[in-house]
Amino acid sequence: MKTFLRLLKLTTPFKWWITLAALLGFATIGSSIGLLATSAYIISRAALRPSIAVLQVAIVGVRFFGLSRGVFRYLERYVSHQVTFRLLARLRVWFYRRLEPLAPARLMRYHSGDLLARIVADIDSLEHFYVRVMAPLVVAGLVTVLMCVLLASFDLRLAVITLIFLLLAGMGIPLLTRLLSRGMGQRLMTTRAKLGAAQIDGIQGGADLLTTGRADRHQQYVQQLSQELVTLQNRMARITGLYTALSGLLTNWAALAMLLLAIPLVSTGKLDGVYLAVLVLAVMASFEAVLPLPQTWQHLEGSLTAAERLFEIVDAEPVVPDPSTPSPRPQDFGLVVKNLSFRYNAQDPLALKGISFNLPQGRRLAVMGPSGAGKSTLVNLLLRFWEYQTGEIKLGGHDLRAYQPEDVRQLIGVVSQRTHLFNGTIKQNLLLARPESTDEEVIRAARQAQIHGFIQTLPQGYDTWIGEQGLRLSGGERQRLAIARALLKNAPILILDEPTANLDPLVEREVMQTISALMQNRTTLLITHRPVGLAAADEILVLQAGHIVEQGQYHQLLQAKGVYWQMENLQNQLMKDEADIGRQS
Ligand code: ADP
Repeated sequence: MKTFLRLLKLTTPFKWWITLAALLGFATIGSSIGLLATSAYIISRAALRPSIAVLQVAIVGVRFFGLSRGVFRYLERYVSHQVTFRLLARLRVWFYRRLEPLAPARLMRYHSGDLLARIVADIDSLEHFYVRVMAPLVVAGLVTVLMCVLLASFDLRLAVITLIFLLLAGMGIPLLTRLLSRGMGQRLMTTRAKLGAAQIDGIQGGADLLTTGRADRHQQYVQQLSQELVTLQNRMARITGLYTALSGLLTNWAALAMLLLAIPLVSTGKLDGVYLAVLVLAVMASFEAVLPLPQTWQHLEGSLTAAERLFEIVDAEPVVPDPSTPSPRPQDFGLVVKNLSFRYNAQDPLALKGISFNLPQGRRLAVMGPSGAGKSTLVNLLLRFWEYQTGEIKLGGHDLRAYQPEDVRQLIGVVSQRTHLFNGTIKQNLLLARPESTDEEVIRAARQAQIHGFIQTLPQGYDTWIGEQGLRLSGGERQRLAIARALLKNAPILILDEPTANLDPLVEREVMQTISALMQNRTTLLITHRPVGLAAADEILVLQAGHIVEQGQYHQLLQAKGVYWQMENLQNQLMKDEADIGRQS
């Protein structure tokens, strides 16, 4: 019930449109009833061969209802589609607005296919909530009242018997079908979502599935899910068939009951015989209003499940709340971290333990450590993706938590190992950093990132389409685009999160040179798991299992002959071995 009311509340901006559409729906069925009733009247009356003048009003009535039925149906469809599409557009924006602040921390436990299903399919199924749930209920209610009033003016028993049959068709059959299809709406929805998720997995991870020989198993899984879906749809179709048959039966029984009740009334002279056919046909026509109701319950269940899945996300609190009175933009872009500890979940071990460092404005700090040491965690905290619990991070002298997450991210340019490029042109991808940049600025950034030459060799230059996730570009080109993006953003703080991790040594060296241009005059945090190219850093932190095991300037660490020194020796040895192997082959 709570979900139903919340859904209803979402439609409030359109309440007048919805009322209009429901009234038009009522007018359409009213016209159908009027058409059949006046037609029956003309035929019955004409059998008595009256003068044409007697039939005149009824003839006009037939013409009117015949035309108005079509016009009202058209208007009703037009208005309800208008409402539906506007409602859907509103719902999509509403959902996306709530979804965005939840990324990435709160969304980690959702599968991307599942999220996609919620954004697309669940919102689409809410379309039924209005067109197939609310409107038919209102129309059926109004038509039932109309019929009861109309029939009661002839004889109360006629009204009562019609009411019973209408209730049976409008509520009895839906209850029966609901019993038969219990939980199926939900199962249909979840199976469909699972199938979508599995298909996306299959497409995105196609290459991995093939190389690990798991493609067959995945295919079987997809087949099993689609089989399940087909079985469910079959059962649903059978139930639909049953209620269509039952509704037809009830309509005819209602007509029969009317005849049985009305014929004695005609014989005893309580009812003019001309109205016999009028009443029977009007009752038959009124069933048009209750026939969609069994489906209404099915759609109601589907809409409520979809709404619950959406509300579950919408109700999640962002991990990082906005401060009540955010600090203004800092004047100084130095970072001070003191005794910082952090764990992702209450039951998890600490990912960072008592980290402290000082990164003054314009200086370079390298954080080096093996995989799992907590380097990305530090970046996640600085970018305000997660909220830290103990210790402090200060930016420009103020607590990082006092800034709005959005403002902090504005100040930080990131080049990471996984640069996400969107399915668009090169220029669109670059402009993401700062949409208002001019063409000259874009070209200047690309020149500095040494990618301008390459872009010019492409058939459409900056307007070349780079495919989903930039798959048409090499690793080095993608990283250069990421650097150009960071240059364009021109943020005072720079985080380089293993920007060359996926590149071969030659390209790595070239990209590193480009990056040095980017580091000029920026407060830079360089994250890496290898002791390569760190001589340029003002200070190096060596991180292991969440704490700092060594800290100092490059030459100090070498002199100390500690962990850093050992790692660099190991790295040099590895590089030498690789070079030897290269020379021999
Ligand atoms: P690095 O970047 O140095 O490879 P991370 O910062 O990614 O290391 O990871 C540090 C620790 O935090 C690891 O033990 C990892 O399992 C854990 N961790 C990382 N991300 C999450 C997450 N989203 N939820 C829970 N634990 C996480």
